[in-house]
Amino acid sequence: MALRLYNTLGRKIQDFSPRRGTGVGLYTCGPTVYSTAHLGNLRTYIFEDVLRRTLEFNGYKVKQVMNVTDVGHLTDDGDMGEDKIEKAAKLEKKSAWDIAQEHETEFFRDLERLNVLKPSGVLRATEHIDLQIELIKKLETKGVTYRISDGIYFDTSKFPTYGQLSGQTRNEKRAGARVEVNTEKRHPSDFALWKFSKPEDKRQMEWPSPWGVGFPGWHIECSAMSISQFPRGLDIHCGGIDHIAVHHENEIAQNEAAGHKDFVKIWMHGEFLVLPGQRMGKSEGNSITLPDVIGRGIHPLAFRYLCLQSHYRAPLSFTWESLTAASTGLNNLWLQIDTNGDTARVGCAEFEERFHAVVDDDLNTPQALAIMHELLKSDYPWHAKRQSLSVFDTILGLDLLSVRASQWIEPTPELRVLLNNREDARREKNFPQADEVRKKLLASGFIVDDTPDGPRLRKA
Ligand code: AMP
Ligand code: ZN
Repeated sequence: MALRLYNTLGRKIQDFSPRRGTGVGLYTCGPTVYSTAHLGNLRTYIFEDVLRRTLEFNGYKVKQVMNVTDVGHLTDDGDMGEDKIEKAAKLEKKSAWDIAQEHETEFFRDLERLNVLKPSGVLRATEHIDLQIELIKKLETKGVTYRISDGIYFDTSKFPTYGQLSGQTRNEKRAGARVEVNTEKRHPSDFALWKFSKPEDKRQMEWPSPWGVGFPGWHIECSAMSISQFPRGLDIHCGGIDHIAVHHENEIAQNEAAGHKDFVKIWMHGEFLVLPGQRMGKSEGNSITLPDVIGRGIHPLAFRYLCLQSHYRAPLSFTWESLTAASTGLNNLWLQIDTNGDTARVGCAEFEERFHAVVDDDLNTPQALAIMHELLKSDYPWHAKRQSLSVFDTILGLDLLSVRASQWIEPTPELRVLLNNREDARREKNFPQADEVRKKLLASGFIVDDTPDGPRLRKA
């Protein structure tokens, strides 16, 4: 069966075939590096990683490019508000460059811990200002821009198909929009390409341009970088669902107005990770991060496992209970696989076929996990099961065959006392106390894994 993917543009599942041969161009919108990525952001990168691994599994050679937004993303996601990086720099009394660098490093460390493969190209917005200026100049020559007091704007009235990705016309967007604060804009859906620095803002990141000193808008960054990296067009462009209505709609307008019609073949968007009753967001102030997860003694891959249990197009409601359950489940898997011998050269073909059919069906990872569990329960010999698991893991990325159990260490008598204290507290449902002990163990350099055979320790 062919690989089939859901295209947000047109809202249907379609057979995938690349523009040219077996090479696939994949562009994944990167992080805005003003604070630590939260689990919602990371869910989107895990979905994109499964996509990339699935493409590679199907024999495609993937060139994946990701931008790093280190300038131009404003606090209201629109054209007003402060630049997120500059704001964080002021609050934390650091330079904007340090803020961006710090969070970029942290972001890629999180991805590595989640077994998310590194893109072949990572491009920082601040290092490609020239490309963005060139693209704005081109848009200017096409007559789709206008100037107002705070910057150069894209005139969406010049782009009749504006709104095709979200399925909303300009006027429908206007009806749903917040009260427009920028009264000089001709239409609420028009958006900034270049913003002028205001003297009172004392920006750290600003550049000269043909229109005046300032900085690029957020959307021009992704168009400029994707066009420069994939001059002949992109196969797949991804992001989270919040990008559909504005960021990606605007990218399409820029690309097409600049002469790159149908620049992206398939648009794919990951649904949100939410907290019960609310979206998780950096601006909402309810972020849970991967360091928070690790701080609770939960392995980062337990979060990956949790994400794989939901389809990427379904919302994932996060609770610590569900993550703890995923953690126990994954530890059980590791333990079961680890204690069961060698790997054969031949796996269980029937299960491998079914596994591939479901991942090729728009990345159905919950089904893929169900097939994996069915295989584990089957009568096949363990060495064959292990071979199939190693194949599954090229997509799941759960380190299924790493020798986990051998990482567990025999606790010293002092550590044993701590472990017993934690068990007592848990039995009495005194979770704050249990948490305290776990933190003490972590401070001494040990992580506790809860396994069916009781708690086990490994080096942090
Ligand atoms: P940002 O760093 O805000 O530019 O976002 C990075 C990525 O995370 C983008 O692809 C967003 O669409 C995505 N994203 C933001 N919030 C969430 C969420 N709660 N759940 C899933 N993805 C999200
Ligand atoms: Zn983008």
